[in-house]
Amino acid sequence: MLYNLIVKLMEPKKNCNLCSRLVDLRNKNKILFPNFFNDRVLGTGPLSSRFLIIGLAPGLRGANRTGKIFNGDFSGSLLFNFLNKYNITENYDEFYKINNIRCRITNAVKCLPPKNKPTTREIKTCNTFLRSEINKMKKLSIILTFGQIAHNSLLIALNKKKSEYKFKHLKKHKINDQITLINSYHCSKYNINTKRLKLSDLDYIFKLIKELLNL
Ligand code: SF4
Repeated sequence: MLYNLIVKLMEPKKNCNLCSRLVDLRNKNKILFPNFFNDRVLGTGPLSSRFLIIGLAPGLRGANRTGKIFNGDFSGSLLFNFLNKYNITENYDEFYKINNIRCRITNAVKCLPPKNKPTTREIKTCNTFLRSEINKMKKLSIILTFGQIAHNSLLIALNKKKSEYKFKHLKKHKINDQITLINSYHCSKYNINTKRLKLSDLDYIFKLIKELLNL
């Protein structure tokens, strides 16, 4: 007898309450910013994609406001400008209409953390959902991590040792025969303004990804 082993994607429920500190912040923001989304922000893009982008967490006035990942702030505009430029998405605009998205985009932590800094426990708690997304991506061949927290969260999800895959900006790691990992500093306004991350670095990264994906 054949069993159908289709594993469902695990996503956090609305008002997920697994991280008490983040729930407290969410409840405060519901009062301070009643028109904001103020909830967990889910990943977007097909799980059948070959390319996965992992960011840190929703920003207060970005995804935490709009409810859409990498949307509504500087980082989102910058990322989607590069995805458009390298034909990984088409027709993205400020209303977040994405046509023909050829990647999955998610965050290591799905709720807004205070000062953009989730604790180790929060990262590990939310990793259940990141791991589930990755496990569903059977054709996955390229992963781009924005920042050290996204990188470390990925290693937790893949059961890999940090000592074997040290985060280094612009570094390419071979995870296995199928998957290549590329590290980048986060595409935040701060990193661009301080020139820690240059636009030419993002050009280098997305050109490389386009070549690796044969797009
Ligand atoms: S960060 Fe993740 S695990 Fe924690 S409350 Fe939000 S959705 Fe739930």
